[in-house]
Amino acid sequence: MAFEKIRQSLAVIGQGTKSGVQKVSDGVSINNRIQAEKRSLERLLAVIGEQVYKEDPDTPIPGLEDEYEAVKVAYANLKSYEEQLDQAKGIFYCPLCGKAAAKGDKYCEKCGTCLIPGEESKGRRA
Ligand SMILES: [Zn+2]
Repeated sequence: MAFEKIRQSLAVIGQGTKSGVQKVSDGVSINNRIQAEKRSLERLLAVIGEQVYKEDPDTPIPGLEDEYEAVKVAYANLKSYEEQLDQAKGIFYCPLCGKAAAKGDKYCEKCGTCLIPGEESKGRRA
């Protein structure tokens, strides 16, 4: 179950925090410990938040509707930027099987689908 995985990673992170605290010398200010603990909390809460979001992205927790919407927009932007990057690199994907192909590839190396529109009739099948 997903929550069990979170609990395990929290336990691992918790151990790291404990040993980190033991190593702290007397000369290190309490302020550094506070900052470290805040960073740790931030990471842990991000892990929990991401898991909660992904388990049901279409049912916002009451009061967090705007945040859910913003996350959705951010995911869409990310996808669009990644597609633009692929395009800039000349990478595209087989419409049939989804395998990545490079600019100039005529056939999908996995399923043999013709990757150039209009050339299907001349195409060979792997
Ligand atoms: Zn393919």
